[in-house]
Amino acid sequence: MTIAMSKEMVTEHGLAAHEVNVKNASAQNASDLNNNFNGMGDSKEISEKDLDDYLHHYNKWQQSRAGRALQQWIADHLGLKFDAEIKWKNVAMIGGLHLTTVILFFKYVWYSTLTTWVWGIFVGGCAGFGVTGGAHRLWTHRAYKAKLPLRIILMCCYCLSGQNSLFDWVRDHRIHHKYSETDADPHNSNRGFFYAHVGWLLLRKHPECIKKGRLIDMSDVLADPVIQFHQKYFMALKIVFTFIIPSFIPWLFLGEPLYLSFLANCLLRYVLTLNFTWLVNSAAHIYGNKPYDKRIRPAENKAVSIVAMGEGWHNYHHVFPWDYKAAELSNYSVNLTTFWLDFFSKIGWAYDLKEPSKDLVRRTLEKYGDGTHITTPIGHLQEVPEQESAKSR
Ligand SMILES: [Zn+2]
Ligand SMILES: [Zn+2]
Repeated sequence: MTIAMSKEMVTEHGLAAHEVNVKNASAQNASDLNNNFNGMGDSKEISEKDLDDYLHHYNKWQQSRAGRALQQWIADHLGLKFDAEIKWKNVAMIGGLHLTTVILFFKYVWYSTLTTWVWGIFVGGCAGFGVTGGAHRLWTHRAYKAKLPLRIILMCCYCLSGQNSLFDWVRDHRIHHKYSETDADPHNSNRGFFYAHVGWLLLRKHPECIKKGRLIDMSDVLADPVIQFHQKYFMALKIVFTFIIPSFIPWLFLGEPLYLSFLANCLLRYVLTLNFTWLVNSAAHIYGNKPYDKRIRPAENKAVSIVAMGEGWHNYHHVFPWDYKAAELSNYSVNLTTFWLDFFSKIGWAYDLKEPSKDLVRRTLEKYGDGTHITTPIGHLQEVPEQESAKSR
């Protein structure tokens, strides 16, 4: 048990999840599956010993001679200090993807056509909607309900984004909300912009994050047949939707050269979609005002809202995570996701859209806000300063 558990924990619950057979999943056995997905058969077995096993591995790399030497060299020459094992595979993949994209972009951007940009923005928009409207507002926060056709559309759109499995995404985001800015937060912004942006994908998770992650209830997600299908065919769906469909359609039907189509969709569009999502965890947790709750780090960030289709109103979102708009005001120009959800609501595919009452929002911002809300009164300025009026008496 210990050895098997260590291995499973080392691969982390995200990877272990892919090995679980979800063929017979149903609402009845969702709770069992939830435990299995979490890498444990029984939550009682989440013992200190299990955690110690993980901690042992967690520090193993740093304890080795080679690890210490490399870590020292990086600290001395680059000024970077790591307190967790580096996932070299992810460093190579994510680093290689970004480097290749930057180099090829400047080499081939001059050959791009209107088709290249229009198709790229269309695919990027669909991918973004799958993340924001699907993984985030529907499956993580249950901010509204969606009928089967919309859930299928959202799942397909999400697959265009090329991110982790929906199960991993939802679990990580639920942990993020529940334990924001602590060691259990997968992208704890107290560890800096880079860590919150992408560094968390390059390092092993903090043990506290693993521990708390196993306690997150995922039964509602596992009970959804659309998620079960996605989990079962995760890798095939990722290859088809992230790479093949976006790059082959312009080549086959729109007269685009394949190399250009590949560069625009499999590299540039993919990299931008990833970074726009990551900015919510980094920039929107560091820069901006806090009209709803000044005690927390998430902030209102308009720039992030524009590129992330309305997900940058993050101070509000962390106070009212179950609001389907993820923002107080429904200005569609800075909240494209809300526009589409309202559209799907009109045709009946999205329903039970949740929102707090205006009164609750007002009372909250009056009590905890930093005074920067658009409705906050400036107050009455004294006609004569107090000292002046005292002197004249
Ligand atoms: Zn957040
Ligand atoms: Zn959220």
